Amino acid sequence: MRGSWWYNAPRHKTQLTESMAIKLFIPGPTVVSDAILAELSAPMISHRSKAASELQKRISDNLQKVLFTQNRILLSTSSGSGLMEGAIRSCTAKRAAVFSIGAFGDKWFKMAKTNGVPADKFSSTMGEPTTPEMVDAALSTGKYDLITVTHNETSSGVQNPVEEIAEVMKKYPDVVWCVDAVSSAVGSKIETDKLGIDVLITSTQKALALPPGLAIAAVSRKAYDRTEKVENRGLYFDLRNLWDFIDKKNYQYTSTPCLSLMFALDAQLRHIIDEEGIEARFARHEKMAEFTRAWADEYFRVYPNRKYLSKTLTVIDAHPKGKDELISVGELNKALAERDMQIGNGYGDLKDKTFRIAHMGELTMDDMKEVTSAIVDILHLA
Ligand SMILES: *Cc1c(COP(=O)(O)O)cnc(C)c1O
Repeated sequence: MRGSWWYNAPRHKTQLTESMAIKLFIPGPTVVSDAILAELSAPMISHRSKAASELQKRISDNLQKVLFTQNRILLSTSSGSGLMEGAIRSCTAKRAAVFSIGAFGDKWFKMAKTNGVPADKFSSTMGEPTTPEMVDAALSTGKYDLITVTHNETSSGVQNPVEEIAEVMKKYPDVVWCVDAVSSAVGSKIETDKLGIDVLITSTQKALALPPGLAIAAVSRKAYDRTEKVENRGLYFDLRNLWDFIDKKNYQYTSTPCLSLMFALDAQLRHIIDEEGIEARFARHEKMAEFTRAWADEYFRVYPNRKYLSKTLTVIDAHPKGKDELISVGELNKALAERDMQIGNGYGDLKDKTFRIAHMGELTMDDMKEVTSAIVDILHLA
């Protein structure tokens, strides 16, 4: 029943994985390989066992490698948003400056507000980055003791200039710097310690190419020390509680974690480090990004400011060159579904004005060629 592919997908073999019916070019969840899907069916262990400690230590060591950090790794059984909320609540003692360049920056601000965390939002025009000047201007007021920055804004396709922002942050050593790298980490290189990021957050279902369900944070001692000054940190997402518990219980977690995802994360990290190689993974993402942008330039227009393009997804103006009307992304996706593929529609305010092609996780150049030539074919662009 092709008409109902989104909830009743046909099961047959594809290039990437036998159990996957639709090849996902959406910015999460991304395609999960068969080998990793198999890890999810491993038998349970006690989360209070030596095996659990060893598993979680290995995950922590390997996440430190791919995130280029010596900071403490904290996991939470939630999607990435859980630790974003936990970070702004646990580490803001005075007032947070939230830099927003789209939907996910706005969400971080909403998390602050709904948790009673004092915060101000500094927005950029859609398609534009957070500039180092904006950060400097806000912090020079002395009002803020925490900032949040989106590394890769999945709604606009902008990758923020975190290297330049890092230079400004050197002037403000007491400010805790939180970065949302949910849709970029492990696909686009972020040198956490070199940049001086205090809380770097990602989740499993994007460039890590795992099912959704775990949030990952790399947390600095400075961020940890800050939590002592914050009275109401909540409990489940309290970074201090997580940190202390791991210390005391040899990498074990406060509550029962999703062990199946931990088995999968452990295997995927070993695949990334030992089989593909982290630098090769970044290079593959870069190549897919360059290809997709060049294709978009030929037939459409890349939506964001070209100086700040994401390496894990391309947001494209839904207006084909030389045509009068916008394409219908919904209709395009129906036609792509006939070919067992799916791309992303625009997000939030950009819903009908743009479409999004993710090139993250386990996708390859062949996949990018397949989806882009299918779009040309379906829309009769050539
Ligand atoms: C997907 C995404 C999130 C939310 O992550 P969840 O794991 O869905 O909670 C946050 N920020 C960005 C930039 C994202 O792309």
